[in-house]
Amino acid sequence: MKKNIELFAAASALLLTPSLVSAAPAGPKTDSVAALRDKALEGDEVAYGIVEGLTTEIGPRQGGTQAEARARIWAVAKLKALGFDNVRVEEYQMPTWVRGAETAETISPFPQRLAVAALGNSGSTGDAGIEAEIVYFPTIDELRAAPDGSLNGKIAFVSHNMKATQDGSSYGAFGPARFVGPNIAAKKGAAAIVIRSIGTDHHRNPHTGNTNFDPGVTPIPAGALSIPDAENLERMIARGKPVRIKLKLTPQNIGMQTSGNVLAEVKGSNPKLPIIVIACHLDSWDLGTGAIDDAAGCGIIGAAALHLKSMDKPKRTVRLLWAGAEEVGIWGGRDYGEKHAGEPHALAMESDFGAGKVWAADFRLPASAAGLRAQIVAALAPLGVVPRRELAGGGADVGAIIAAQKLGIIDLQQDGTKYFDLHHTPDDTLDKIDKAELRQNVAAWAATLALVANYEGELKPEPAQ
Ligand code: ZN
Ligand code: ZN
Repeated sequence: MKKNIELFAAASALLLTPSLVSAAPAGPKTDSVAALRDKALEGDEVAYGIVEGLTTEIGPRQGGTQAEARARIWAVAKLKALGFDNVRVEEYQMPTWVRGAETAETISPFPQRLAVAALGNSGSTGDAGIEAEIVYFPTIDELRAAPDGSLNGKIAFVSHNMKATQDGSSYGAFGPARFVGPNIAAKKGAAAIVIRSIGTDHHRNPHTGNTNFDPGVTPIPAGALSIPDAENLERMIARGKPVRIKLKLTPQNIGMQTSGNVLAEVKGSNPKLPIIVIACHLDSWDLGTGAIDDAAGCGIIGAAALHLKSMDKPKRTVRLLWAGAEEVGIWGGRDYGEKHAGEPHALAMESDFGAGKVWAADFRLPASAAGLRAQIVAALAPLGVVPRRELAGGGADVGAIIAAQKLGIIDLQQDGTKYFDLHHTPDDTLDKIDKAELRQNVAAWAATLALVANYEGELKPEPAQ
């Protein structure tokens, strides 16, 4: 009993003695984190400047192409001009696919043109194109259930019912029509496949994106129809007569090409502490100028890191990874994971979901970091950000390094309600960026970085998580 009283007295002294409180390794003062957050919220121009510059001076920048190489040169110059440390490029080689001509039309019973875009890794129809009867699958599961050989010589058409969701979860639920539909159709003998675009708009823009074929499966021509065209095709099919379409897609594989990651740092004061890596991707699809996907992410993390740099030197080094070739197979993220597997990291974060405001925060941290988590939640609350019970997952470009080192993760979840109206379409352009929402992202990131980069405790979760 006496011992408990002594412990209580000691604990009270710790709580009440100002000198002991100020000596605790608590990182930056709460008011300075709030000031940093509010400064970013009210006046950040850096994030928009990055998005404006990249979309204006480079534009589309598909992984492995000369345009992506120009984007790396642009990024190095920009990050150096902003004052970051250790700005550099790490190159790697990757197989590269490029778009060719693309047209689609119904031949019978109702001849019309259809808006189409080839999916990444699509095979070619050749210049003559392919004309064949459509076999309609309202969902990917119905395509999966089709007997082997039943599609011989036919063009599969796979639809879906994707709707907008704030958290973007409908992409995971309906995306397989694109991710694996072409591979399944190829295995069942289809001559080609068209899908309803993986999107939530009703503009006449197809949504491109990568698809993958298993080793040994010859890629078939694979295209996405704009959503209005897919719906029109469904109405034609519902009339009950066989529908024939002609499809011409002439993409090419141009062999191994150079791609690369651009890295930059805010140097920490304690080189013994494992670093924090924050990622976006520098490449984009070729149809738009890659404003929301993912110049916005590079703008957000670049600006937030710069706000961090404006404070006293953080304890941990924060490294920016502007990854190459994410869209076409996460080549940059994997290369980073391999090259840096032996370098101690503590935590990873990623911004790759547009420029919509942050509405939730997910964490994957050890129980010992509950105090840090509470500080972050408090710092984000004035921005309207709520903590969730979901475990943070990171993102594509930090996936390899997270897996290699079992890192802590914080996800600042953006509102994705409108994201899939624009995703991978010609409409992904600068004018879609809401400056105030972009600044809210920078504010949330700056506050979070200020707290984690000055936290000296363990950030990796317990193995059971
Ligand atoms: Zn992206
Ligand atoms: Zn994308």
